[in-house]
Amino acid sequence: MCGHQYTGDGKGYGVIVNTTPSASNFNADVIVVGAGLAGLVATYEAVRSGLKVLVVDQENRNNLGGQAFWSLGGLFYVNSPEQRMMGVKDSEELAWRDWENTAQYDDAENDYWPRRWGREYVRFAAQEKRDYLKGLGLNVIPTVGWAERGSGDASGHGNSVPRFHLTWGTGPEVVRVFREPIEEFEKEGKVSFLFRHQVDELITEDDANGPRVVGVRGTVLANAPEERGVASNRDKAGEFELRAAAVAVTSGGIGGNLDLVRRTWPEDRWGPAPKDMVQGVPAHVDGRMIEISKKAGARLTNTDRMWHYPEGMQNWDSIWPTHGIRIIPGPSSMWFDAEGKRLPNTIIPGGDNLKGLAHVGRTGHGYSWFVLNKSIVDKEFIFSGSEQNPDLTIKKVKNLLSKVGPGTHPAIRNFMDHGEDWVIADTLGELVDGMNRLVGPDAPQIDVADLRRQIEDRDSQIDNKFSKDYQVNYIRTARGYLGDKIVRCQAPHKLLDESRGPLIAVRLRILTRKTLGGIETDLDGRCLQSDGSPLPGLYAAGEVAGFGGGGMHGKNALEGTFLGGCIHSGKRVGEHLKKYVDTVK
Ligand SMILES: Cc1cc2nc3c(=O)[nH]c(=O)nc-3n(C[C@H](O)[C@H](O)[C@H](O)COP(=O)(O)OP(=O)(O)OC[C@H]3O[C@@H](n4cnc5c(N)ncnc54)[C@H](O)[C@@H]3O)c2cc1C
Repeated sequence: MCGHQYTGDGKGYGVIVNTTPSASNFNADVIVVGAGLAGLVATYEAVRSGLKVLVVDQENRNNLGGQAFWSLGGLFYVNSPEQRMMGVKDSEELAWRDWENTAQYDDAENDYWPRRWGREYVRFAAQEKRDYLKGLGLNVIPTVGWAERGSGDASGHGNSVPRFHLTWGTGPEVVRVFREPIEEFEKEGKVSFLFRHQVDELITEDDANGPRVVGVRGTVLANAPEERGVASNRDKAGEFELRAAAVAVTSGGIGGNLDLVRRTWPEDRWGPAPKDMVQGVPAHVDGRMIEISKKAGARLTNTDRMWHYPEGMQNWDSIWPTHGIRIIPGPSSMWFDAEGKRLPNTIIPGGDNLKGLAHVGRTGHGYSWFVLNKSIVDKEFIFSGSEQNPDLTIKKVKNLLSKVGPGTHPAIRNFMDHGEDWVIADTLGELVDGMNRLVGPDAPQIDVADLRRQIEDRDSQIDNKFSKDYQVNYIRTARGYLGDKIVRCQAPHKLLDESRGPLIAVRLRILTRKTLGGIETDLDGRCLQSDGSPLPGLYAAGEVAGFGGGGMHGKNALEGTFLGGCIHSGKRVGEHLKKYVDTVK
């Protein structure tokens, strides 16, 4: 037993009770659970407003920044100077139209706060986000990417214009711009961290107005020297109890907990959860705090909304268990289901992520195939992940320029040489043999004549500048955008043209990533109770809160909106905490 007993009169916040073996007498106003991006932003803003913050995380300090470190750093900006430089006309109005058409919010209570958060987020992305981040030292590269281009319907899902701005320095840079000032705050005694502290319970106390959250209890985990991202032990080395005026939960989503993903999988929309999925996030993205927050009285909503990808593959050089890497594809690869049938023409690589996922899910096979050639892979494939893009991550202009020129990027070369989901061959017959060998005789076997017929049909549409093939037309339209023409979209050509070879097939698995629902919050980030009133003392931000409101994206997303969602919701929480702390202190 060490530390001071919480006095319960509002004066003893931040002291630690029953803490073995680690203890800290840091007298915090606020406890932040989770040192990912949302936690860092909430901490940064709370300290700037004059509060003292204690950050608790179950992993070691190597993992500071959480998932954001691994991210590509893609940011959704609206009407930015970079867009204008690339000839893109964008506006907040167009972005909100796209957002609503994509979100397909329900006209019901479950989407009351998500819709309001969505609107606020689009305002943030159009008016505030770029200046805020630039002020912190974050820059983006000038060629704006066009993620989630939609599936052909102006009233449907998708970005009408390119809005995916890549951070110069990728995810580590997004983390750095918050980490560095927070480390300064730490030296000044305004922030303290407790690593290897796993929260198991939120402490509530009743007063005349009902329950309020006054702290956290949990397990001190045994030391873990692991490198960032490597799964660590859950051995118990002690217990802890911490108290403060308020607690902010910023513990991330569920993508690293495949059991939980399967349990909440929306089978009615996506077919059965695949038996075999790859994991796009580290193991610490375990979703435990969602249920823990519910137990304390927080209401959950839209928990069956998620954002996983159909274009995952097993990493050849894994960091965490079943580590999957997502291909961010350009539009030219031909996409086939496990039986070798081309996907419907409105499902174009990179067009409508969840439509592709739902289609593959409903086949019941849990995987699909890209068939392409070397000239497409060289120009159109990017892999999501900071470690897959060292040129951008370490900010080397010279290396980056090599991506624009001819040749195969080293990250792609590694998968071509070592990736277990890749087949490379000079002829279609050899390619199909390799595909069938890869999945084994118990899986559907591709018929080479059938596949050849479909590819030749598509290739027959290349000789004229116009065609009846939707995907070929789509490629031509995409190249009307300068950014695509320069770096993302190969000129239309025959897939079986030998001079473009060799041929490549990639088995695409379902890769888990983001959680779109979660803890319901109001616009200040206060967690709501079952009657819709705020639960005093409890806040949530980032993925655990569905990036605000318990699902600001609605049923689908526009990409690059997740890091920004952490920044926006973390900022709102950080800014509001002071008001609350002042009322209870
Ligand atoms: C490879 C990759 C690429 C991505 N690319 C992009 C992109 O380009 N653009 C984009 O917008 N988004 C991208 N994302 C998504 C984005 O990075 C995440 O959605 C975001 O970083 C989530 O941040 P968070 O702070 O909510 O949670 P996390 O980063 O998951 O952090 C949560 C923290 O809470 C801790 N924690 C959890 N439970 C407990 C507990 N009980 N006790 C104590 N601590 C706990 C965890 O250890 C962790 O440190 C990418 C993600 C990945 C993995």
